[in-house]
Amino acid sequence: MSTTSIPDDLLLRERFTDIKPPLSPQAAVIEANRCLNCFDAPCTAACPTHIDVPGFIKRISTGNLRGSALRILDANILGSSCAKACPVEVLCEGACVMHRYNSEPIQIGRLQRYAMDSFQATGEELLTAPRGSRNVQVACIGGGPASLACAAELCRHGAHAIIIERNELPGGLNTYGIAEYKLRTSDSLREAEMIRRMGVEFRTGAAIETAEALEELESEFDFLFLGVGLGAMQRMNIPGEDQKGVLNALEFIASYKTGRLKEMSGTVVVVGAGNTAIDAASAARRLGAETVYLLYRRGEREMTAFDFEYEHAKHEGVQFLWRRQPYAIRTNERGRLLLDTVQVNEVGRSLQPVEGSENVIECDYVIPAIGQSPFAQLVQDLRRIELRNGIIVVDPETGQTGNSRYFAGGDCANGGREVVDAVADGKRAARAIMKIAEAAYA
Ligand code: SF4
Repeated sequence: MSTTSIPDDLLLRERFTDIKPPLSPQAAVIEANRCLNCFDAPCTAACPTHIDVPGFIKRISTGNLRGSALRILDANILGSSCAKACPVEVLCEGACVMHRYNSEPIQIGRLQRYAMDSFQATGEELLTAPRGSRNVQVACIGGGPASLACAAELCRHGAHAIIIERNELPGGLNTYGIAEYKLRTSDSLREAEMIRRMGVEFRTGAAIETAEALEELESEFDFLFLGVGLGAMQRMNIPGEDQKGVLNALEFIASYKTGRLKEMSGTVVVVGAGNTAIDAASAARRLGAETVYLLYRRGEREMTAFDFEYEHAKHEGVQFLWRRQPYAIRTNERGRLLLDTVQVNEVGRSLQPVEGSENVIECDYVIPAIGQSPFAQLVQDLRRIELRNGIIVVDPETGQTGNSRYFAGGDCANGGREVVDAVADGKRAARAIMKIAEAAYA
């Protein structure tokens, strides 16, 4: 069985400072006491996993940190990473009633982090239900947040869950794909380790890529949960994109998070304007690149990254080039990349180049981050599981696919949302699986 232990060198590499530093004990209690303990808790309603926000905050104010953390974990097994990676400004904190009184919202994310850090420091294990006599067996394919949440929830209900992950380390985007200043690799691995100690089995470094491998799993397990995320970044489909210096955004983020890439210099152009593009651009600056451009074919208002991510990138020194589209990549005599771009305007629903607006950016790296393509072709081809625009189609209430033994959640089923959405998907599927299993044995 693979281990989820934290490599020492990863701990040493935690040099990227936190975007939101932890609260001191005194500050946490003062902040917790500001909470009005609203009976209708709009903050809880705004959380996809429905964490009992006033409940866990109340426990912080009374010094019951263990109770507070258990309250969080009841609803969200990845409460620690969500405390750091969640866009709280548009979820729980965005819904806080304090806005109505022209006050600062309660710092729910930082309080959640405070409770979770304190719980993790104790090393306490979570209790799970004894293995049920029905012995429901579920394989969760993909080791990211959706599968972790699904497997943990199944374990809590007495099922046997195993996580199959193609990478050497579990955690998916939490481990490999979220910028270090938001979520450290070691934090992600610590959470996966907690889930392993609940009884979830991990098989890492194991890819399922053939019909035989899938058939083997089907014969071994009652249900399969697909938490395979989204695959490689889409290609730009322009000449010259295969040359040295053109980096895949997700691989680039994974390289620096796992310490394979420690610094970079020169000029970097990131293409795209989603959260992955922003993460890549900010990381390039932090790794030492003197000039970082983020180039987007549409305008500032159309970018899909959150406002606070955009503000953060500007603060890091990233320069934004709007309404520019690359159309070729060449190399000059000094071996530097030449990115040919043109200004584009929206005409109807399409983008048209503006005549005479061609421009060449001389740079050292180009990082396309223009959306992600799905990794679900195998099950579509072999099990006729429906994909729509590359996304696995599921029942929104249960996460069940058209094939009754297959469930799916996280990015591969929701198209690429937040960690907390993946956790909610995984939990929902686990509960639906247990319901079906119990009905079958009743
Ligand atoms: Fe506390 Fe704000 Fe939630 Fe009300 S809405 S319970 S004040 S965090």
